[in-house]
Amino acid sequence: MSADIHLAAEQLGKMGYLDLDVDPSLDLVAAINQLKKEKNAVILAHYYQESEIQDVADYIGDSLGLSQQAASTDADIIVFAGVHFMAETAKMLSPSKKVLLPDLKAGCSLADSCPAPVFRKFKEKYPDHKVVSYINCTAELKTLTDVCCTSTNAKYIIDSFPADQPLIFAPDINLGRWLVKETGRDMVLWNGSCMVHEIFSHEKITKLKIKHPNAAFIAHPECESHILDAADHVGSTSSLLRFTRESKYQEFIVATESGILHQMIKDSPGKTFIPAPPNNACACNDCPHMKRNTMEKLYTCMKYELPEIHLEDWVIEKGRASIDRMLEISARAGL
Ligand code: SF4
Repeated sequence: MSADIHLAAEQLGKMGYLDLDVDPSLDLVAAINQLKKEKNAVILAHYYQESEIQDVADYIGDSLGLSQQAASTDADIIVFAGVHFMAETAKMLSPSKKVLLPDLKAGCSLADSCPAPVFRKFKEKYPDHKVVSYINCTAELKTLTDVCCTSTNAKYIIDSFPADQPLIFAPDINLGRWLVKETGRDMVLWNGSCMVHEIFSHEKITKLKIKHPNAAFIAHPECESHILDAADHVGSTSSLLRFTRESKYQEFIVATESGILHQMIKDSPGKTFIPAPPNNACACNDCPHMKRNTMEKLYTCMKYELPEIHLEDWVIEKGRASIDRMLEISARAGL
């Protein structure tokens, strides 16, 4: 390794990524594709990644699809273009593989809203309850969880417990409230939320709906309940994408992270997509964590195989059980 990479590797803890200059004339798409081949690496990207990253990925999906891919890939290296908890999940599912994340500081406000030591104490107050956690949580929280879920499979996961089994749902209170309504199950909810999905403005959306009377308003269940109540369709990222593809509507107001619009436009080029406006002066609803990943960081991460995700063995063993159960139930449900 050159002196530069040694220094950049030493500073990983502080920076979160390899802070190296990348030749601006380099064809990053070609270079990344070459590294994929040389290293037998696979790039798994979330729908909320910037469009260039989505286009160079081998698989683009939401949390359920990405977990299924991470569990089944025969690549030697998994490069996760997403946020930290997603790369941790991939490591749990494929512990013998090298899992890379372009920027370790690509975190998640929702995962951070439920620190495991505090949740452990909270859980002690409900000794008879089982825990269902949204996959958007830390690896340590997964060790305190009976079954994980995503927004695609959450209803099936909850219904898989006997009706008289009391449940705690963590960490997203908005998704939890929506699930209580959908399943008719009174769960104890942890009070966490996603900074992107709780900023949509009801007032601005109402005005937008008046301006576009033929548009369907679609929303992710991490949004607040007054936003969901106004939606024509509520669903996971994949479900929203499918709805835009299959429904008769030609125009959509979309309340979720704006990265998904890239696939929506690609899938339905003749249709119109309007990002739902947030409740602030900014016109965008980007997740700042997801957008920490860039093509340059993706390239240096693959070239030097850093930063890498490491987890303690007990965390992998205990946390993985909750993800395995989720994948089993999902497979039985045909998801
Ligand atoms: S969009 Fe919300 S839940 Fe998703 S990674 Fe960003 S902060 Fe976390």
